[in-house]
Amino acid sequence: MRKVFITLLSLATAFTVLAAGSDNYTVIISLDGFRWDYTEAYDTPFFDQLAQQGVKAVMTPSFPSKTFPNHYTLATGLVPDHHGIIANKFRIRATGKQFSLSNNETRSDPQYYGGDPIWLTAKRQGVISATVYWVGSDVAVKGDHANYWKDYLQDRLTHEQRVEEIIRLLSLPEEQRPHLVMAYFEEPDHTGHECGPISMPTRRATERMDSLMHVLWINLQSLPIASNINFIITGDHGMTWLTKERIVRPKDYLKAEWITSIDNSFPSLIYASKSEYVDSIYYALSGVDHIRVWKRGELPAYLNYGTNVNMGDLVVMSDIGWQFDNKPSKEMGSHGFDHTASDMWVAFRAVGPDFKSGYSRQNTFRNVCIYPLLCHLLGIDPSPCDGTFDEVRDLMR
Ligand code: AMP
Ligand code: ZN
Ligand code: ZN
Repeated sequence: MRKVFITLLSLATAFTVLAAGSDNYTVIISLDGFRWDYTEAYDTPFFDQLAQQGVKAVMTPSFPSKTFPNHYTLATGLVPDHHGIIANKFRIRATGKQFSLSNNETRSDPQYYGGDPIWLTAKRQGVISATVYWVGSDVAVKGDHANYWKDYLQDRLTHEQRVEEIIRLLSLPEEQRPHLVMAYFEEPDHTGHECGPISMPTRRATERMDSLMHVLWINLQSLPIASNINFIITGDHGMTWLTKERIVRPKDYLKAEWITSIDNSFPSLIYASKSEYVDSIYYALSGVDHIRVWKRGELPAYLNYGTNVNMGDLVVMSDIGWQFDNKPSKEMGSHGFDHTASDMWVAFRAVGPDFKSGYSRQNTFRNVCIYPLLCHLLGIDPSPCDGTFDEVRDLMR
């Protein structure tokens, strides 16, 4: 009897492995800094077509509304405080080293990347995945990568080449073909920083991305698997205006000897030189107009921030559009502010066999729900995360 039971059990296990995964394919594109209302302000016929044929929604980023924290949130379903990429730049307390986008040693070190990125969740469950750049995808998180991936620093393709690469991946023979393709594009963020969110250059950058995505779409439609492709376009955060006059200078309030470093200005992580200076810094900044200061561990719950081991001793968040810096930024636009401010929100479009058609969702959803959404589309089990599939279930057919 026991033997029969064991045989049945192994048959059931074998069936589960075979049954994992969906017949459909998912392509998710991140346009950096794709603010939710660029499609209202600019002429974007393709993004409008996607809204008509599929789903249109607005997604809120996680705090802080920066590139590295949010791309890795999209990949893991964890808020930055939980996955560990708490900012584009932060101090690693154990070593005193700095994590930053431009420091290749720390940027590429898997120990800072927590959680279970979707490409690993998929691979473990037998679903082939591909990344054409995505924060974390060229780092050997848990010692592994997606089945196909590219090094962002060593092997950079133009935007047009990335489109070709996506089509090449989806044209591979079935047994090699990825069911998940994730791709990253730097615009309209780059121009949004230089020229501000509402400007002629940002209009042109957004409209170019609209045409390029249309080209990608046309090519996807010519594939034999076209009717099986779920196609998602979204991004990491929005963008707002900076002005030189809206600035609070740390040096007007803080003594240099109190501080080891102040990393970033949206938000700022302040590392005190000695623990007794934490109170001095806190009281010096409390009550200053246009900024809010908290000690680590004391941030309001809605920010979901402040408990990570590498967090600054204090966090300063400036009002939207304000800078906490000794020198004003040369940029016209930036992001990183309170993620509940609408300028930080992100456009979301999705079309394909699993999505409703002509559906416009009225309330926002959180970007931690992308990971469970992708797991649903791929037919795989998600690892524990901060989002839920329930929050986005209404987008499904
Ligand atoms: P932000 O300062 O938050 O606007 O960051 C945007 C910058 O992140 C862009 O200039 C990109 O070049 C950079 N970036 C995006 N993905 C990666 C990556 N995987 N590795 C290094 N830098 C990246
Ligand atoms: Zn970004
Ligand atoms: Zn940016």
